[in-house]
Amino acid sequence: MASSQSDGSSSYSQHSSRSPIPYRVAGRDVRLCVKAARWISWSPDNPGRRYFKCRNAQEGGCGFYTWYDGPTTTFIREVLNDLRDAVWSARREKEGLVLAIQEERMKVEEKITEVDAAQRDGGSKKAIM
Ligand SMILES: [Zn+2]
Repeated sequence: MASSQSDGSSSYSQHSSRSPIPYRVAGRDVRLCVKAARWISWSPDNPGRRYFKCRNAQEGGCGFYTWYDGPTTTFIREVLNDLRDAVWSARREKEGLVLAIQEERMKVEEKITEVDAAQRDGGSKKAIM
């Protein structure tokens, strides 16, 4: 069973530079690649459209790829592009927030260590915070 995987931004740029005549490629090359993996394109031109690509494409492979789904409507394309951009934007924002939380957590832990050390000094009433 071919698993459906979402395509990263790194591999769609490679596809967007290709000529949009995948059916001709399929007719010629379909027997060259026994192990094709199914992916979902997230390129601006073909968001949500499934395609097969040589399983070894990351290491060069045989160059085989072909669409599994036919072309979609302009409206669906626009909706999927907007949703894709919203997800990517939300992910970037989340990553930034996670990093900010980690930084703040480290600062708090440093302060706790300082306070603990000051308390162990005993008698010292000097405020640290
Ligand atoms: Zn191949």
